[in-house]
Amino acid sequence: MPEEIPVLPDSFWSSLKELSFNEIAFEMAKPYFGEELSDEKLNSVINDAFNFPVPITPVEGNNFVLELFHGPTLAFKDFGARFMARLFSEKARKDQQEVTILVATSGDTGSAVAHGFYKVEGVEVCLLFPKGKVSNLQEQQMATLGENVTALEVEGVFDDCQRLVKQAFTDDDLNLKMQLSSANSINIARLLPQSFYYAYAVSELQKKGIDEPVFSVPSGNFGNLTGGLLAMKMGMPAKHFLAATNMNDVVPEYLKGDKFQPRDSIQTISNAMDVGNPSNFVRIKYLFGNSDSAIRDQITGYSYTDGETRKTIREVFEKFSYLLCPHTAIGYRASKDYQSERDVKIPTVTLATAHPVKFRDVIEPEINHQIDVPDRLNVWLKKEKKSTSIGSDFEGFKQFLVDRA
Ligand SMILES: *Cc1c(COP(=O)(O)O)cnc(C)c1O
Repeated sequence: MPEEIPVLPDSFWSSLKELSFNEIAFEMAKPYFGEELSDEKLNSVINDAFNFPVPITPVEGNNFVLELFHGPTLAFKDFGARFMARLFSEKARKDQQEVTILVATSGDTGSAVAHGFYKVEGVEVCLLFPKGKVSNLQEQQMATLGENVTALEVEGVFDDCQRLVKQAFTDDDLNLKMQLSSANSINIARLLPQSFYYAYAVSELQKKGIDEPVFSVPSGNFGNLTGGLLAMKMGMPAKHFLAATNMNDVVPEYLKGDKFQPRDSIQTISNAMDVGNPSNFVRIKYLFGNSDSAIRDQITGYSYTDGETRKTIREVFEKFSYLLCPHTAIGYRASKDYQSERDVKIPTVTLATAHPVKFRDVIEPEINHQIDVPDRLNVWLKKEKKSTSIGSDFEGFKQFLVDRA
């Protein structure tokens, strides 16, 4: 985390509506780079990374959905991955040294990172995902690229993948042999771009005469929510944040007043949020100066069962013909519950984290309707997989890395 969070002037926040997405991104990123990256380079990183639309759709009354799934892998993680990959490429060129990026993924991070870095010079990528616990499409998107992208199937759950990666970063021997870096949401280069779209949502709402929305964030590792809190600390007007989870509800429990008590993750239909020990919790604490009460004032937690998630998908489709992926459905439901507990007129923005078509097997039975698969997805399903299986012990993983280098 940066030692100090830069605060942008009120004049910037009050006139967001005059700016494009990329202009907002530039102003928010600039203070973090100082002399290290010229304005010209930063602009080209931004223009290259964010080359797809970010619609904000009114679904019902004052409930908006910010569609973050129009990038190449159809999930919000494209924002972080594409921005970060272009920064790493700048750095590798400057240092003239190859970097190996290690990523533990429960699905969508891996595909976004794999795509973001694919064929980027000077960067090798190693993805670890839990065997049999990611969707077919997610696996195809990670394991068919090849080139500088290696996919490792781990015998275990997501938390095993994360443990292996964390251990690699603290292994002296390994760090002498290669330059390792992270691309998980603990990397500031991924976190920062996740603050841009919150500000963009505020700008789009300003155009409608709405200010200070409540943001509802479907959460697993809590990188996305941390991005929003970072924007708020930079001065962005936001009324409140909702931390919406599936039954992996460690953070909502904490927000209700209990201790933060990590535990093993459980499998749900919103599998990109099956995280039992969210890495970004410490960053959230840091942003609030470790004050539990300040955190609880600003964020309310909600958690839902798979049954409630399915019901929300069905109801929103039946009433508004709008399709929610299982993750987004959890956020949407939290928005509605927050409003009905307080005031239905409060404007809410739910972050839509994935395109519904990525979760057809969950959604189609609920809506009794087939979802059309865009051509760009069908391409992936036809490619040949090139992944390697490993166990969940560190020594095996380490040996693999050493042999490969
Ligand atoms: C990663 C992911 C999430 C959770 O985001 P975090 O930043 O880990 O909280 C939610 N939905 C989808 C579709 C994701 O891929």
